[in-house]
Amino acid sequence: MRATLLYGAGDVRVENVPDPVLKHSTDALVRITASCVCGSDVWPYGSMNPGDGPARMGHEFIGVVEDTGSEVTTVHKGDLVVAPFAISDNTCEFCRAGLHTSCSHPQAGFWDGEPDEGGQAEAIRVPLADGTLVKLPVAADSALIPSLLTLSDVLGTGYHAAVAGGVDERTRVTVIGDGAVGLLAVLSAKRLGAEQIILMGRHQARTDLGREFGATDVVSARGDEGIAQVRELTAGHGTHVVLEAVGNMPAYQQAVGILRPGGVISRVGVPQYEEAPIGFGSLFRHNLRLAGGPAPVRAYIEELMPAILDGTIEPGKVFDVTTNLDGVAAGYQDMADRTSLKVLINP
Ligand SMILES: [Zn+2]
Repeated sequence: MRATLLYGAGDVRVENVPDPVLKHSTDALVRITASCVCGSDVWPYGSMNPGDGPARMGHEFIGVVEDTGSEVTTVHKGDLVVAPFAISDNTCEFCRAGLHTSCSHPQAGFWDGEPDEGGQAEAIRVPLADGTLVKLPVAADSALIPSLLTLSDVLGTGYHAAVAGGVDERTRVTVIGDGAVGLLAVLSAKRLGAEQIILMGRHQARTDLGREFGATDVVSARGDEGIAQVRELTAGHGTHVVLEAVGNMPAYQQAVGILRPGGVISRVGVPQYEEAPIGFGSLFRHNLRLAGGPAPVRAYIEELMPAILDGTIEPGKVFDVTTNLDGVAAGYQDMADRTSLKVLINP
């Protein structure tokens, strides 16, 4: 079968690789019908050392179950399923607490921990299929597929940011980042009833979609100027919550500058730093808190799916390009150049 491999920075190739096979009695084999490129794929695309490659790519997909191990009971051959970006058993004490990205099962983990598997391919072996996969009640060619595909990562990640930040009807929110996760953090904050949602981003097509998703204000300035503009929009106080969907140090510093006393920074952009200011002059002085982490999107699939099925939300609008495996390399480059927001792949 064909699969996407990253050989090093800027070097994405689609090659023939061995077909996946069942290895454990809890595995399922899935023929992938829809996949996509993630903003987090663009980080290694920009920086990977060729010595660390080649790496199979992709951790968001929908597909049809082709075969299952003898212990799999919740999905069957022919089912259309969605997979989250983390493998989990959905039964351990951390999964039961809604922290599927901390699942304690030895086979749990992220897809990059499965070196022979990747979602940007024609097929995949899914470990812990009963816990990981969720059956979809539509056909593989449904018009809802783009929105349902966001359940695998970007919608659940944006929603996790809002949940971890404690967003409710009394909350004023700032979202940093106008990528797919940031825009779906806007949608999520709206869904949780936020009183004000300020989107910080500078690409108008994206911030326009952000307004459609519920942003009440858009601030295109960054740094001190951006902080000052958010404060102007909030009577000088800043917002209760910042949903940080970028992951670099300027975004963290911007978040600290925007928070009102007692506020929460909820981070879902993978931090590209290990050290950050947390002392008296940053978090401590005004009782600011830091939340977030890898989103346990598996915890949110059943909760969010009905709103997609009944058309209440259309998170699939974040996909602005659809291609096949032959177009994947160009898709990475377009996302790195920010000419594409998010690329859908029909293998
Ligand atoms: Zn678990």
